[in-house]
Amino acid sequence: MTIVEEYRRLHPRSAELYEQAVRTFPSGVTHDTRYVSPFPIYVDHAQGSHKWDVDGNDLIDLVMGHGALFLGHAHPQITEAIIEQVQQGTHYGACHERELEWAGWIKKLIPSAEELRFMSSGTEATMMAVRLARAYTGRDKLLKFDSHFHGWNDSLYGVRAPEAMTPHSAGIPEATLSNTLSVPPNDISLVEERLAAGDVAAVILEPTGASWGTLPLMPGFLAELREATARHNTLLIFDEVITGFRVSLGGAQQRYGVLPDISTLAKIMAGGMPGGCVAGRADILAMMEYREDSGEWNLERRVAHPGTYNANPVSAASGSKMLSILAAGDKHAPLEAQHRRLLQECNRILQRRKMPGCVYGLASYFHVLLGYRCPEPEDGVEWSWAEGEMPPRIPVHLGTALKRGMINRGVDLMGLNGGFVSAVHTAEDVDAIIGAFDATIGEMQAEGLV
Ligand code: PMP
Repeated sequence: MTIVEEYRRLHPRSAELYEQAVRTFPSGVTHDTRYVSPFPIYVDHAQGSHKWDVDGNDLIDLVMGHGALFLGHAHPQITEAIIEQVQQGTHYGACHERELEWAGWIKKLIPSAEELRFMSSGTEATMMAVRLARAYTGRDKLLKFDSHFHGWNDSLYGVRAPEAMTPHSAGIPEATLSNTLSVPPNDISLVEERLAAGDVAAVILEPTGASWGTLPLMPGFLAELREATARHNTLLIFDEVITGFRVSLGGAQQRYGVLPDISTLAKIMAGGMPGGCVAGRADILAMMEYREDSGEWNLERRVAHPGTYNANPVSAASGSKMLSILAAGDKHAPLEAQHRRLLQECNRILQRRKMPGCVYGLASYFHVLLGYRCPEPEDGVEWSWAEGEMPPRIPVHLGTALKRGMINRGVDLMGLNGGFVSAVHTAEDVDAIIGAFDATIGEMQAEGLV
């Protein structure tokens, strides 16, 4: 039986639901990356590191709420905090103490967070970061890096033809696109050249590389950017929606010791509920302040920020609980050790099976690349990609086969080729993932896919 035949055999109910779904949602899905051929699986419930689909299959989950569930599904303390809050009301349409508590954790943990504002998603956070930067500097242009993802807002979505492997979107006005410049990462002289014109409000990037580190950055690039942006009075925005609270408690800025002017955060910070924030220098966030004595400022120069669900009490309760548990400081080191073992073992499997490719990542996320000769890892995990040797993305046909094969063997990858290990994945889970990877790679070779 081929991988896809086995996939169909194991998931009849999911196939049925998908038939309904294609008559309801475009392509049957509610998020672009949940689209999987021949159909996605439908999940019934989840607990800890596992989720169960509607056909009763038990899956070790590596999607982990698109990276939000650092402590796994339905964590008892977070669940309790949410239930308690729901019983006290889900929306006060007013200020409340929980928003102060939530913000307090963010200010304590994120080094550059002097002040912040909450919103409901990462996309909203990057949208606001851009608006703040434009208002603060009085400049319109933005500089991003090819393939770096910042949510689906108009001004940051795949904008340049050479971003060949990044999805673009129709429906974005030319005038908007023309204000966003995109350059390849890791080349500071290109950035300098663009900044020299003096019209760039902000440089924004994923601080561990495009698509949560699928295309890692060269060491030192963040520090070079910090220096160049400061010199040109351009703001530096770290999009830490994925990396915040993950690659260290204080995000990439703490891990690499480079402080941005503005950070965008979401996912982990809300404990699995919707939530995001823009955090940063107080003088920049002050663009949102009301000035009692200046109607002109309030009407014309102030940055506006409404939003029905901003800092809603349920997300605040969930996020505060998540961050308070992480702040104890005992979660990251054991998780990184599990992650390291996973990567080392998967790379051994590829070597033993003479399958070109590698499994690489950072802290607790990983990416699988197949059909490509990666450089030798320094210690089985830390890949030092030479300049001009940035890894390509996994070819779609290989990623799709890997995704299906891993699901057949009880592991759900994030997208086609990666995942998030959480603090509640056990050593047995990691063993099972390694076993599933070995078997799937074997099947892919047997099918002649590589
Ligand atoms: N920025 C980055 C780096 C992201 O990875 C994402 C989502 N994966 C976003 C922004 C957008 O966040 P959201 O999906 O919450 O809108």
